Amino acid sequence: MKIGVLALQGAFGLHERVFNRIGVTAFQVRTAQELAEADRLVIPGGESTAISKLLDANGLTAPLADRLAGGLPVLGTCAGLILLAAEVVDGYPGQHCFGAVNVAVRRNGYGRQSESFRAKIDVGGWEPAFPGVFIRAPVVESAGPEVEVLAELAGRPVLCRQGAAVVSCFHPELAEDDRVHRWFAELQ
Ligand code: GLN
Repeated sequence: MKIGVLALQGAFGLHERVFNRIGVTAFQVRTAQELAEADRLVIPGGESTAISKLLDANGLTAPLADRLAGGLPVLGTCAGLILLAAEVVDGYPGQHCFGAVNVAVRRNGYGRQSESFRAKIDVGGWEPAFPGVFIRAPVVESAGPEVEVLAELAGRPVLCRQGAAVVSCFHPELAEDDRVHRWFAELQ
C-alpha cells in the first residue's frame, strides 16, 4: 500500500516523514499520474486557497474529484479539511471544496497564527488523549447526519469521518504521536 501526500503547498513533508517512520510507504503527489498511483491520500495543512489554485494549475482538480467520488481513502488536516468540506463559510471566491465530508467550516475560526494552541483531544478509546496542535485552524460549524464525529473540543467537532474520508482541524503530523497516521493507514 502506498500513501500519496499532496505536495503542492504546506506541511506535506512532515506527513511523509511520519508514515516512513511507522513503516508505511508514502510519496509526494504533484501530478495526475502520481495521484493515480496513490492507494490513499493525505491533503496536508497549509493554505487552502493556495492549494486550491495549485490544484487547478497542476491539472489535479478533476482527477482528485474523480478519485474522491470513487471512494479514495483520504485524510485532510486543517487546510486539507477545508478542501474536503462541503461548504466553506468565508472562503476565497472560487475556492474548491470537494464535499467528501458533509461539514461546513469557517476558515481561521480558531483565530490567527499568534493564537495557535495545543489541546488534549479525547478520541474515543484512545489512551492517553491525543495532543492536538491548532494553527489558524478551521472551525467545523455544522456536520450532517452522515458524519461520524470522532472527537470534539469544547463541543465542536475536531476529528470526523464520513466513509473513507477523515478530517481533522488539528495537525497530527506535528504531534510526535503517530496514532492518527497509523489508524488512517489501517482504516477499513
Ligand atoms: N487557515 C488556513 C486555510 O485557510 C489553514 C491553516 C492550516 O492548515 N494550518 O487554509
